[in-house]
Amino acid sequence: MAPPELRYDGQTVVVTGAGGGLGREYAVFFGSRGANVVVNDLGGSFKGEGKGSQAADAVVNKIRSVGGKAVANYDSVENGEAIIKTAIDNFGRIDVLINNAGILRDVSFKNMRQQDWDLIYKVHVKGAYKCARAAWPYFRKQKYGRLISTASAAGLFGSFGQTNYSAAKLALVGFTETLAKEGLKYNILCNVIAPIAASRMTETVMPPDVLSNLKPTWVVPLVAVLTHKDSTETGSIYEAGGGHIAKLRYERSKGALLKTDDSLTPGAIIAKWKDVANFSEPEHPQGPANAMELLEAAQQLPPSPT
Ligand code: NAD
Repeated sequence: MAPPELRYDGQTVVVTGAGGGLGREYAVFFGSRGANVVVNDLGGSFKGEGKGSQAADAVVNKIRSVGGKAVANYDSVENGEAIIKTAIDNFGRIDVLINNAGILRDVSFKNMRQQDWDLIYKVHVKGAYKCARAAWPYFRKQKYGRLISTASAAGLFGSFGQTNYSAAKLALVGFTETLAKEGLKYNILCNVIAPIAASRMTETVMPPDVLSNLKPTWVVPLVAVLTHKDSTETGSIYEAGGGHIAKLRYERSKGALLKTDDSLTPGAIIAKWKDVANFSEPEHPQGPANAMELLEAAQQLPPSPT
């Protein structure tokens, strides 16, 4: 039996940065599955320069040409209120927010200018915050919401020439983890994806044969699953691209426990370093180690040898 076709009839989906790349494919998908779509795009360059209405309009026309419902919004994600207002004014509700808009200002750390750092933070972090902040009261009131934010392998693992982008992208992981906790009792599910796909962002750094195996449409199904009403997933991080979909989690070593007295010195830690970095009995934590429990156990230990 074929798996069910996921639908979003009557729901309103806001996709930021939907004028091209991944965002366009999300918007077109939701438009084809019964949703009302707000196609937001500032319409500037991949470095965050300029603006225009053409990119968003073209996607709205594409959705409408096959009978879908969509409206354009040309605000920067820094003006999240205006984007969510477009959803409310046109469709009366917001059910799904996909924080997708993004730019790059790649430069080695040595040569980074303040504006390269600030602009990346403004678009990725402030933009995601402003859009989510504006959607949140609606999500809470209706006890329903689905939020996706877009991280990156660069944020999770680091990437040469991308300190600004890496920091901003990992910020969205912490942002989403906390929103997942705050949203849970209101059925607001929040997840992060680290996609990989051919787009104007990646076409300058990847060769054509690699790009041809990274169609943005192959990232869409994961976003569809995570934002569907039947999903129960929240607070998770996923990689998606080139047909590979995987979930990531933290791993904590068993660690060393040292007596909490004057014997807890740098030398005592060096002596136990094998335990600190031993992953043979790992935990997969959902939160910080229980400090009080560990402190009590540490107090029972004999002093560390000096
Ligand atoms: P893209 O450049 O094709 O799409 C980004 C869109 O965001 C553009 O249409 C752009 O006009 C829009 N945008 C930029 N600044 C905006 C702003 N201030 N307000 C509103 N819209 C704005 O790139 P893409 O590859 O489709 O990237 C989509 C998202 O995925 C980004 O957040 C990017 O960082 C992330 N990402 C992409 C990849 C990849 O392999 N393509 C990898 C990791 C993360």
